[in-house]
Amino acid sequence: MTDLLAATTMSTAPDAAASVDHVATPLTDARSQLAEAISLLGLSDGLHQMLATPRRELSVAVPLRMDSGESRLYLGYRVQHNFSRGPAKGGLRYAPNVNIDEVRALAMWMTWKCALLDVPYGGAKGGIAIDPREHSMAELERVTRRYTSEILPIIGPERDIPAPDIGTDEQTMAWIMDTYSVNSGYTVPGIVTGKPIALGGSLGRASATSRGVTHIALAALRHVGLDPARSTAAVQGFGKVGADAARFLSEAGVRVTAISDQYGAVSNDGGLDIGALSDHVRATGSVIGFAGAEPLDGADLLTHDVDLLVPAAVEGVLHDGNATEVRASVIVEGANGPTTPAADRILRERGILVVPDILANAGGVIVSYFEWVQANQAYWWRADEVESRLEERMLSAWKHVLGYADARGLSLRTAATALAVERVAEAHRLRGLYP
Ligand code: GLU
Repeated sequence: MTDLLAATTMSTAPDAAASVDHVATPLTDARSQLAEAISLLGLSDGLHQMLATPRRELSVAVPLRMDSGESRLYLGYRVQHNFSRGPAKGGLRYAPNVNIDEVRALAMWMTWKCALLDVPYGGAKGGIAIDPREHSMAELERVTRRYTSEILPIIGPERDIPAPDIGTDEQTMAWIMDTYSVNSGYTVPGIVTGKPIALGGSLGRASATSRGVTHIALAALRHVGLDPARSTAAVQGFGKVGADAARFLSEAGVRVTAISDQYGAVSNDGGLDIGALSDHVRATGSVIGFAGAEPLDGADLLTHDVDLLVPAAVEGVLHDGNATEVRASVIVEGANGPTTPAADRILRERGILVVPDILANAGGVIVSYFEWVQANQAYWWRADEVESRLEERMLSAWKHVLGYADARGLSLRTAATALAVERVAEAHRLRGLYP
């Protein structure tokens, strides 16, 4: 078939070499990973340009009436990177430093994640530059409903389906579902995933990302010849992904010796009691001061002497300034974009196995897909059905990526990105270019 897209010239081609860490951002990282996949697959400049650029993006001003009566303005975004394989899909992030370029990167990674796991979605991401910890529930409800109203024209169960990400949760999804449904005149459970179970959420969705991270971590440890029951782990982040990942890893026999959150870190070489640590965090809001551990510097967690490192917080934490100091043999990316391309190169040269985000943390969007399917059919699956289908998809993607990487001498990230980009490129080729 003629490549219709080859006719487009790459006049504004993204900088493929933009991975020098002092200028690295999530977007330069994402674009440099895409450029590598494009060149490996021999795809056209025209397609490269299309895949480097979001199909649609909306910036919105979100006014919020505070409980005090004063009003404040927040900036929000929804970026739809690609729709070639289905509706756009991706989380909604509330964090003070959210910006359009970060949302663009996260949306692009969602496209690859969905393609790699073969769920029938494109990629999207949303965000509001707001610190949710500084707001009451009533304020969060108002800002969520207003943001939803602003992006209403571009979302929908067949257009773009939001889900939780950093700073948002099932309550946020319930408000989005209600706002969308009230405006539609009927209840639309398929508009979001990660909803409360009582509103049509899926069993197993809340812990799905962490379960997926654990399946991959255990497989990766075994792959490098380590017995999980004799291995140690450090987990960066004790939020939606890190807390349950630490729990599942420790239930699987891995000794979790260090954990951090945004305030600090704790360690215990004998293994942290994750249940007791969770109780401490519930009571105090942070891991700091946990009686069953020693204090540790947050940055030192990444270079702690462990077999497995799970960065499960934010982007860009492993960079050329610390990648040489990492002591883990295996890194499993619970977060999106935690490793810069420069760090990736260093870790590869040092023989450290990095399982990339688009594979390692895909459990969340897999069960989001299950939730959307269940909501659309109004038929609910048992928890064990959700969990076994999740495990089956995660492990089959792991084997596929591993086989592709081994056959071509690639890193797991390059292999995973290339496999995903190839699937998206195939959809573009088959659909053709309109008009
Ligand atoms: N925010 C999650 C992610 O980054 C989940 C997205 C979803 O379920 O749509 O993968």
